[in-house]
Parts: sequence; C-alpha cells; structure tokens
Amino acid sequence: MLHLEFNSDSENEGIARIVTAAYIMKFDPDMEEMDDIKTAVSEAVTNCIVHAYRETVGWITLQVTLMEGGIVRIEIRDRGCGIPNVRQARQPMYTTDAAGERSGMGFTVMESFMDKLSVRSSVGKGTTVILFKKLHGGLHNGL
Ligand code: ATP
Ligand code: MG
Repeated sequence: MLHLEFNSDSENEGIARIVTAAYIMKFDPDMEEMDDIKTAVSEAVTNCIVHAYRETVGWITLQVTLMEGGIVRIEIRDRGCGIPNVRQARQPMYTTDAAGERSGMGFTVMESFMDKLSVRSSVGKGTTVILFKKLHGGLHNGL
C-alpha cells in the first residue's frame, strides 16, 4: 500500500496526482482508467487545499491500496473544517466558493470517473473521501 502525508501547499496537488499514478502503474491500468483516477485524486486533494484548510495550512493523507478483484481504493483525508451537509455538498453545482471561481462539480466529477465515492465528514474534525475503481486489464487479475 501507499501511504503519503503532505501539507496543503497548492503544488502538492500535482505531487499527489503523480505519485498515485506512479504507484498504480504496477496494477497495469489502461490509459482511460489512469486518467480517470488522476482526475479524481486531483479533485479530492484540491478540495482539501482550498476548502478544508481555506485560511490555513494542514496535513493531507493519501492512501492507495489494491483490493481483491482488481479494485483500487484511494483514501484522501484531511483534518480541516469539515462539511456540515455532505449530501448537499455532493449535489452538482453546489459550491461554498463566494468568489465565483469554482463550479461545484468536484464531487460530481469524482463520482462519474470512479465506480464508487464515499464521503465522511465531521465539522471541525475533517473529511475523508474514499474512491474506488475496478481495473479491467492485465496483471492484477493474475496476482
Ligand atoms: P470545483 O470542485 O468545481 O472547483 P467545489 O470545490 O466548490 O468546486 P466540490 O468539489 O463538488 O465543488 O465541493 C462542493 C463543496 O463541498 C465545496 O464548495 C465545499 O464547500 C465542500 N467541500 C468539499 N470538499 C471539502 C473538504 N475536504 N473540506 C471542507 N469542505 C469541502
Ligand atoms: Mg472541488
């Protein structure tokens, strides 16, 4: 498994995406699966940086594991502000961004690019997003 901790500096979004991609290479994803996973990780980590630790800098944890059946599980956790209403936050076009820079589509993108998305959050304690995607090609089926 891959377990990585990094702070919420904005350049770490790219690092998290690249490290995830490098790690899942050994599971032999096809190009589309790889792109989908990179996009979803990028959305989840960006949310930690811009929302969870909006006025501060804090730790973000990334965990990547391959489960039975070729399913990749990716957990992204922050100890930031938390989400008061997860169901509402997951609605397409819902955003708390007042500056009008965000479209409120991050969770929708994660949901459509991955097979399953789980969000647990507690106000003042933080948020854990878990992404699942089954890989269909190659190596992992024989391992
Ligand atoms: P976009 O992702 O399109 O740039 P967005 O980030 O506002 O816009 P989502 O990613 O769908 O849209 O998130 C919806 C809302 O959920 C955010 O506006 C924010 O209020 C809340 N949210 C998401 N992730 C977190 C998090 N890790 N911590 C605190 N709040 C979050
Ligand atoms: Mg977002």
